[in-house]
Amino acid sequence: MDVKTRIKRRLQIWVCALLATGCLLARAQNPSTRPILIAVDATHAAQKILHSELQIPASPGPLTLYYPKWLPADHSPDGPISNLAGLKFFSKGKELPWQQDDVDMYAFHLEVPAGADSIDIHLDFLLSAPGAAIDFSASGSSKLLILMWHEVLLYPAGSPADQITFEPTLRLPTGWKFNTALPISSRAGDTIKFAPVALDLLVDSPVQSGEFTKVISLTGDDKVLHEIDVVADDAWALEISQELIDKYKRLVREAGALYQSRHYRDYHFLLTLSDNTIGLGQEHHESSDDRVPERTLVDPSKRLLAAGLFPHEFTHSWNGQFRRPVGLATPDFQQPMKGELLWVYEGLTTYLGTVLTARSGLWTPAETREYLATVASALDHRAGRRWRSLQNTSNAAQILYFAPSEWSSYRRTTDFYAESVLIWLEADVTIRKQTQGRRSLDDFCRAFLGGPSDGPTVKTYTFDELISELTAITPFDWRTFFRDRLQSVSSHAPLGGITGAGWRLVYNDEPNVLIAADQDASGKGDFTASIGLVAKADGSIEDSVPGMAASQAGLSPYMKIIGVNGNQFSVDDLKRAIQASKSNAAPITIISSNTGSMETHAIPYHDGLRSPHLQRVDEERDYLNDILKPLTSSAEGTR
Ligand SMILES: [Zn+2]
Repeated sequence: MDVKTRIKRRLQIWVCALLATGCLLARAQNPSTRPILIAVDATHAAQKILHSELQIPASPGPLTLYYPKWLPADHSPDGPISNLAGLKFFSKGKELPWQQDDVDMYAFHLEVPAGADSIDIHLDFLLSAPGAAIDFSASGSSKLLILMWHEVLLYPAGSPADQITFEPTLRLPTGWKFNTALPISSRAGDTIKFAPVALDLLVDSPVQSGEFTKVISLTGDDKVLHEIDVVADDAWALEISQELIDKYKRLVREAGALYQSRHYRDYHFLLTLSDNTIGLGQEHHESSDDRVPERTLVDPSKRLLAAGLFPHEFTHSWNGQFRRPVGLATPDFQQPMKGELLWVYEGLTTYLGTVLTARSGLWTPAETREYLATVASALDHRAGRRWRSLQNTSNAAQILYFAPSEWSSYRRTTDFYAESVLIWLEADVTIRKQTQGRRSLDDFCRAFLGGPSDGPTVKTYTFDELISELTAITPFDWRTFFRDRLQSVSSHAPLGGITGAGWRLVYNDEPNVLIAADQDASGKGDFTASIGLVAKADGSIEDSVPGMAASQAGLSPYMKIIGVNGNQFSVDDLKRAIQASKSNAAPITIISSNTGSMETHAIPYHDGLRSPHLQRVDEERDYLNDILKPLTSSAEGTR
């Protein structure tokens, strides 16, 4: 979800199904049944409603149909069924009675009449607008739509998703253009007919459409089509600088050099620049659904914060889509998923995405180090790590994705993204040291994520298989290495990768570039490493770290700061008060509103501002520099 879909900017978390046979699964070539016809009418998308007509082959007797519940990129049972409306079933024009299962809300039961060989279904899907909670129905505006097929279909129980064939048709608002990885069969006016496609690949292939669109080719010398398909609410937002396009071209080359394979026919970065859809990055085999605020590419702070989005989602085509943990490779969208290996699916992807962001020039090495320092500091101040292991955050992902950001330190959040960056960095450094620089995690990636470039397939793995493939690259006790870090309930984050790479985490009053950019973009003040507090622009406390100064003074999430040292609250005023605390004998005085009651809190803190950075350890080799170095030359078309 890759949120999953939501974007947690500071830690660069984005927010992201087949048979679990442990072998390479080929796509269904010869479906034995007639295809399901689906015709989506999106002409009323601007009015927040999509219409869908389906014809499903069926035999007389009881029939159970499912609305997709467990979504592969979400790792959660969050199919937006509450926005399903207008559901009706017909046979030969006659309406049929139906029942929603009284336990499983995603199952619908009906009786197919004698003599019928199919049923017809009408349903509507209600689009929404972005709100405080994750809401994937917020996928359109008056100028654009990202159609997610799982929102507008039902499918019959009893067959794996790769064995159910759909023939999709889509009608768009007049004059809207579209882009998708889905192969097209024909087009007439605003109606597009797509080639027959298996259900799992249909759900994996969103369609981006809108009034204002632009296609930017990233195709290199290998001739495999790569492109950025941009849609925006306004025409001006489509203009992307040549400098940035060149960096994205380099990303494609660097990914090719790292993985030495491509598990897609062609690849589409479906980029949406809009303030009217949910912000997200969602991975797919042959595309990624990347949605950011409209000004992201022209606002330096927003651009810096979003730099890793494409590298992360692109990496998922190899790690997550092609190689998938066995517990996340379910036969359809109804079977529960197990998140125990999300620290590989999402965690290794976050590490490799970070490395590729640097190798492609989207971040400088210095910016990348600031990011690593931010991650290390945030995790080193997680009060919840004393009760909740990293492994548990992975297992409990389906809960944590939807938890509010308040109390993140004590509850912990989807830390398997960011903390795995530290762990996989340590694994990379370990391989380099064990082999005297002859091998690296790059070699593991080529072996584990590579293989034949023959289109979208899934190859599952278990923890044991992961360990065995790592051991084949470098003999080492990898099982203990990962188990220790995954099951730890130490109060400190695993910083061995940073120190092993020749750097150390330090704090001083110089601003951290990523934290400063976050404040600039969101207005939020992050004082985690000083008084242990994160405050929103309006003074609402987002987090207060138990055991640190603000919490000990009685400040908690959901309270609202009204005044600081006698001044009306602003993030800058709070920052000045913390800065002045070094030379100020008096405590920092906070006036807060706690559910309507006014309170005074005295924070006896005198260490000033503390921002995290990485500092070089001179006598150690700079492995981090080795890791972040591009594999290709900067010249166009070298690979
Ligand atoms: Zn992801």
